[in-house]
Amino acid sequence: MPAKAIIISIGDEILYGQTLDTNSHWISGELDNLGVRVLKKVTISDARETILYNLQEAEKNADIVLITGGLGPTSDDLTKPCLAEYFGTQLVRNEEAFANIKAIFEKAGWEMNESNEQQADLPANCTAIKNPIGTASGMWFDSNDKVIVSMPGVPFEMKHMMKETVLPRLKKQFVEDGIYHRMIRTIGIGESKLAEIIKDWENKLPEEIKLAYLPTLGAVKLRLTTDNDSAQTKKQIQNLIDQVLPLIEKYVYGFDDEEVPEAIGRILREKSQTLAIAESCTGGYLSHVVTSVPGSSGWFRGSMIPYSNDLKRDLLAVDQKILDAEGAVSEAVVLALAENIRKSLKADVGISVSGIAGPDGGSEEKPVGTVWIGYSDKNKSVAKKFRFIRNREINIKYSAIAALNMIRINLDKD
Ligand code: ATP
Ligand code: MG
Repeated sequence: MPAKAIIISIGDEILYGQTLDTNSHWISGELDNLGVRVLKKVTISDARETILYNLQEAEKNADIVLITGGLGPTSDDLTKPCLAEYFGTQLVRNEEAFANIKAIFEKAGWEMNESNEQQADLPANCTAIKNPIGTASGMWFDSNDKVIVSMPGVPFEMKHMMKETVLPRLKKQFVEDGIYHRMIRTIGIGESKLAEIIKDWENKLPEEIKLAYLPTLGAVKLRLTTDNDSAQTKKQIQNLIDQVLPLIEKYVYGFDDEEVPEAIGRILREKSQTLAIAESCTGGYLSHVVTSVPGSSGWFRGSMIPYSNDLKRDLLAVDQKILDAEGAVSEAVVLALAENIRKSLKADVGISVSGIAGPDGGSEEKPVGTVWIGYSDKNKSVAKKFRFIRNREINIKYSAIAALNMIRINLDKD
């Protein structure tokens, strides 16, 4: 039986729709990786009775209770006094936490006031969880074979604590045989088509190995899971991956944690190629995705956003006659954009995107969601038309993923 967890997000701002609860989403994924079953996630108000009631309920039903939020220095942050009350104890000054806060203030050159100092007062029965990047200390409580952990709401502080302290300790205490996951990452093929191709392989999978299809924007992940991480099982899963790969090779861009932009960066790096982008309907989003990859300066030259037709003409030498005859969302225009951005930014690969993201601007011939993507390198220039059918925001995201995939498909063939 896997250990059971409940996640509690505390904060009125989440309930009012001002903050999206990304913490519990992230924590769920990490616990799943660890092999802990998440029973429930609750979002509650910063209110004493609610906090006390939910603590009690959670401790009754789960082995592990993870709480985020409500640890700030202000009087609306009640989590700490509530935890002290719940455990029938007092807040006492924690010297380690105090030293940490002091160091942060000294480094920033700020004066500490009383409420800052009080952030070092923790319930007497907890172990402090170090927070080197913020002033709210985390708290670990052992209670009748169960564990209750309270962490700050600020996502990067919470993640830091989880990775450095909480997850390793939970693993030690609650996970006997580790769950083992491998992920095959595909792009450019739908879930059902993929399922059809690998049907025979899937049907022959050993019972103890579970397969999950995890679709996200434009990409489907295939996850293989077992509940033991012995060397033998790892080898068995690798063999299964080796068996299925030939069937789906052209859709596979990477494995395990590697996301599409990282994979494209890796491929460009491996081939010593640089990239330039001319993006119209994605308005800089594609460049943002690319530059979010650490180390992208090693392979990304830069980009232009020639949103208007005259800039397509004046900055990137797209022939006015072509623009007039074919329109900006056309094969001829993205081919010209891809080739010209590659040359003018002195890159090895040029990518261009021009489309109608919506909700307006569509026509019968070019409905909303029509996106042309161009690719150019020194040997060839190609273009492909896509038709996305979602709202503006998602069409833009799909376009960016499709553009990155154009690089993979065309570079791989060289
Ligand atoms: P602080 O010391 O910064 O006050 P805290 O523990 O009191 O930390 P909160 O005041 O609840 O945390 O939230 C701090 C910030 O963290 C919020 O402004 C919010 O943007 C973010 N945050 C809080 N809870 C969540 C959550 N569940 N998911 C994503 N972000 C969150
Ligand atoms: Mg706060």
